[in-house]
Amino acid sequence: MNHLHTNKFYINGSWVQPDGTDTLDVINPETEKSIASIAMGSAKDVDNAVAAAKEAFKHFSKTTKEERLALLEKILEVYERRSDEMSQIITAELGSPISLSINAQTVVGSGHLKATIKTLKAFDFEETNSEGDLIIRDAIGVCGLITPWNWPMNQIALKVFPALAVGCTMVLKPSEVTPLNALLFAEILDEAGVPAGVFNLVNGEGAIVGSTLSNHEDVQMMSFTGSTRAGTLITKDAADTVKKVTLELGGKSPNIILPDADLTAAISRGIKHCFQNTGQSCNAPTRMLIHESQYEEAIAIAATIALETKVGSPSQKGGHIGPLASEMQFNKVQALIEIGIKEGADVLVGGLGKPEGFETGYFVKPTIFINVNNDMEIAREEVFGPVLVMIPYKNEEEAIAIANDTPYGLAAFIQAGDVEKAKSVMRSLRAGMVRINGTDIGYASPFGGYKLSGNGREGGLLGLEDFCEVKAVSYPK
Ligand code: NAD
Repeated sequence: MNHLHTNKFYINGSWVQPDGTDTLDVINPETEKSIASIAMGSAKDVDNAVAAAKEAFKHFSKTTKEERLALLEKILEVYERRSDEMSQIITAELGSPISLSINAQTVVGSGHLKATIKTLKAFDFEETNSEGDLIIRDAIGVCGLITPWNWPMNQIALKVFPALAVGCTMVLKPSEVTPLNALLFAEILDEAGVPAGVFNLVNGEGAIVGSTLSNHEDVQMMSFTGSTRAGTLITKDAADTVKKVTLELGGKSPNIILPDADLTAAISRGIKHCFQNTGQSCNAPTRMLIHESQYEEAIAIAATIALETKVGSPSQKGGHIGPLASEMQFNKVQALIEIGIKEGADVLVGGLGKPEGFETGYFVKPTIFINVNNDMEIAREEVFGPVLVMIPYKNEEEAIAIANDTPYGLAAFIQAGDVEKAKSVMRSLRAGMVRINGTDIGYASPFGGYKLSGNGREGGLLGLEDFCEVKAVSYPK
């Protein structure tokens, strides 16, 4: 980690000195100790990065698809070679257990890159429509990319690779909570030979670096992943310059367990998925909906399975969960658990405080609330910690109504014996992704949500199209 250019920004193909002297400590969430100090950017740093990206766009937008495919292949080679380093960094700054960092956090980066390469190969930048007109997809221009801390490489990959694929240039502002993986990512792109100015990185605060990007007249598009709060602010900032804004925001995803599902398997899957990454996933199935006739049995199963969830050190291999990413996140999760208790929900397992033996670090107890109704704050607010609520439903119609009764609409999960039945329920759900019986949505499938979960879709064909402008051309034939 020591080699990273923590006190510099990557602008125009070089590691440059920041404009100001502000710094921020990067805290290891297991030890609560600083592991690095990063430079925090100013509006001037953003101006420099945008100017480099604007200049590079003149050339990079004219490169051929084959040239960009070769570049992406080269990035893949370097990324895979340096993936151990990436996993170590993510574990140190995020607290994600090393097995999760290796097998998921880092792997998703190459997974998205491979899917981008495959999609780009099949992508038509020009077609003739039924009117006989030429329809051209042009790279949209300079893009501002802002990412959160919870699945850092996933979110950077879903923006940077499609943007490169279509010929955009960009300025990335990663989360200030987990900036180190992004610094390594910049090194990887540099080593792979991404031309100067095409990819730029400026660290800093959302309200300064992020907001300057969103307001910048030379930035044509903002692609943001993070909270609905920040997504709304970015949209407002981007309005005066009529930028395109794509948003991947929060969620409070339902997991409907239909009465014919294998109850033990369904509950086990639901709990494990909800607690994965210490519950810090936008698409986590945080509201488990169970038929009232099975509620008592489900509680007994959940209690047994939840007690098997181990908390442990991020540096140890295994399927345990680690600490939350930051003190701020720890306080937020504790506050919401307290609200759940005050609202009258019962704690089945977990609750307030740190697990025994984990006094240092942002560790929390994996927690399940029962006797929850969907109006409680604990059922409506995104907790972003290992906290599950179990809600009973009377019939299928009510299950669908509860599932949709949320300001969000990112993901929904269905567990069923009869898959066709699950598919018919799926048609009534207002969510961008529906996963039946624990199956995964593929890398090249669109990722994104309805309602307050955002707009636009990342990944696959739609992910490339989002970074394009469209030009219709008529001509004498
Ligand atoms: P956050 O919104 O606080 O921060 C995300 C990024 O936005 C950071 O880089 C931050 O510096 C920046 N930012 C903050 N305020 C800004 C502003 N005014 N202008 C511009 N940039 C600003 O979110 P977080 O705490 O880092 O991440 C957690 C949130 O992200 C959760 O709500 C989670 O659901 C969401 N998330 C969504 C997805 C998805 O794809 N839908 C994926 C992962 C995380």
